[in-house]
Amino acid sequence: MKIVIVGGVAGGASAAARARRLSEDAEIILVERGPDVSFANCGLPYHIGGKIVERDKLLVVKPELLKARFNLDVRVRSSVEAIDRNAKTVRIRDLASDREYEESYDKLILAPGAAPLRPPVPGIDLPGIFTLRNLQDMDRIKATIDDGVKEAVVVGAGFIGLELVENLVRLGVSTTVVELQDQVLPPFDKEMTTPLAESLAANGVALHLGESADAFEQTSDGLVVHLKSGKQLPAQLIALGIGVRPENKLAVDAGLEVGPRGGIRVNDQLQTSDPDIYAVGDAIEVKDFVLEVPTQIPLAGPANRQGRIAADNIFGRSISYRGTQGTAILGLFDLSAAMTGASEKILKRAERPYRMIYVHPANHAGYYPGAEQMTLKLLFDPESGKVLGAQGVGGAGVDKRIDVLAVAIQAGMTVFDLEEMELAYAPQFGSAKDPINMAGFVAAGLLRDDHPQIDVASLMAMSPSERPFLLDVRTPKEFADGHFPDSVNIPVDELRSRLSELPTDKEVAAYCKVGQRGYVATRILRQKGFAVVNISGGYTTYRHHFPETS
Ligand code: FAD
Repeated sequence: MKIVIVGGVAGGASAAARARRLSEDAEIILVERGPDVSFANCGLPYHIGGKIVERDKLLVVKPELLKARFNLDVRVRSSVEAIDRNAKTVRIRDLASDREYEESYDKLILAPGAAPLRPPVPGIDLPGIFTLRNLQDMDRIKATIDDGVKEAVVVGAGFIGLELVENLVRLGVSTTVVELQDQVLPPFDKEMTTPLAESLAANGVALHLGESADAFEQTSDGLVVHLKSGKQLPAQLIALGIGVRPENKLAVDAGLEVGPRGGIRVNDQLQTSDPDIYAVGDAIEVKDFVLEVPTQIPLAGPANRQGRIAADNIFGRSISYRGTQGTAILGLFDLSAAMTGASEKILKRAERPYRMIYVHPANHAGYYPGAEQMTLKLLFDPESGKVLGAQGVGGAGVDKRIDVLAVAIQAGMTVFDLEEMELAYAPQFGSAKDPINMAGFVAAGLLRDDHPQIDVASLMAMSPSERPFLLDVRTPKEFADGHFPDSVNIPVDELRSRLSELPTDKEVAAYCKVGQRGYVATRILRQKGFAVVNISGGYTTYRHHFPETS
């Protein structure tokens, strides 16, 4: 068996190593355009910021090791230029000598990844405007910073853009972010990103949301970014993090099927429309695990797993790729933001029915020093309670909860299963009722109709006259510090003696800071015969939706 692999990083290197572990006899050729294989793309921003001090640490596995340990024929600085499917050959160009030659294959694995987008706007190719994909990009950015950068503009507030922002700030560079959407981290639902936007502001980062960079200009003082609104931003360094597009040219030229957004089409075994050609990683179209529709999700974990699966299938193991959930995490200053499965906006777009709840628990027991708050948003099927998606933002412990929920989604679990989950607990690690259990209790209570709820967005979309009677059950001090418009304050501990102050001809919507006292109030009022709902996530969720008014 002779296997040629195009692309030697996440998907390609995983496929190569797996193939060798499955067959000592196979001839395995790993062709990589760049000078490095198997490097840590995900670490690049952190070497720029100085957190990862040694550049060498990013070279996870070097070509010599791939040769010695896995007996791979690694050809760096070599580009696969074309595929001849009939002859089952590829044309390879040795970039050092410019020599071209043919190489035959029995099976071909395409793992060429995705290239950063560079929109065709005036000035886009000026020196000082960078994208970040590999170590050479990183070196160029670092060299520019070392030359003295006072001001930087990062265009695009996605994962890579924000990681760059954090690292530029770490270096003392005054940084501005420009983002087309009206929120940072667009894969998340907007309200979940409020703490991130606040953290950026607190760290001195200027944020231009709902803005686009329409042109770049070189002046005698440095670069200038011209925004659509007419604003101009000076900078000595500009980084673009506006997304990626699959490197599909080889596949398209060879007549392989690609999806509408350019991802190479594969079946569950990761075979392209040619059964002798497999494709993995950022270059492919995957099945959305929750919605079961084709999509593109460029992430390292899926690329690595797909590499293994392609090799398994080549050696007759018949393994299916289950689809991609989009489990992802960002660290931004003291916050983490993580998500898995479908967001609310994706569910809405797909017209998939859902219910949702918010909770704002601490990562561990409140009485143990150092507890940090997080917000979890859980989306689930309104009938079965099956978990469809989750997002978390906050301090410590967000990663663990989103990972648990990622497993729940993969296992097809429901919110009723979350109630019953038994998770590791001691006061410094969690709570006897873990945030996962809490989310389960709240969501299951909603589906059982023990605990009717309304979400902030639906509530505030009503006209003031349509809205329920808004009852704030916090303390007068908390109420004075900020509350829902037109709400009335009756602390939960006084509620039983002040029922006469509540309307009997109108629904009551109770709320507190995070939803817990609101829940107690809801249970009291329900049993006293009132029509009542709890506002999910309480005033904290209101603040996340309407940071400017609260
Ligand atoms: P790549 O790793 O991009 O490898 C493809 C390789 O193929 C490239 O080296 C390219 O040179 C080579 N190639 C392309 N065409 C040819 C050709 N014709 N001939 C020869 N070689 C070719 N994901 C996460 O999950 N978490 C993170 O924290 C994270 N952080 C990231 C940070 C940065 C700065 C970047 C750039 C990406 C990050 N990612 C992260 C995404 C992750 O790195 C990718 O999803 C993953 O590397 C995709 O693997 P891949 O094998 O498909 O492509």
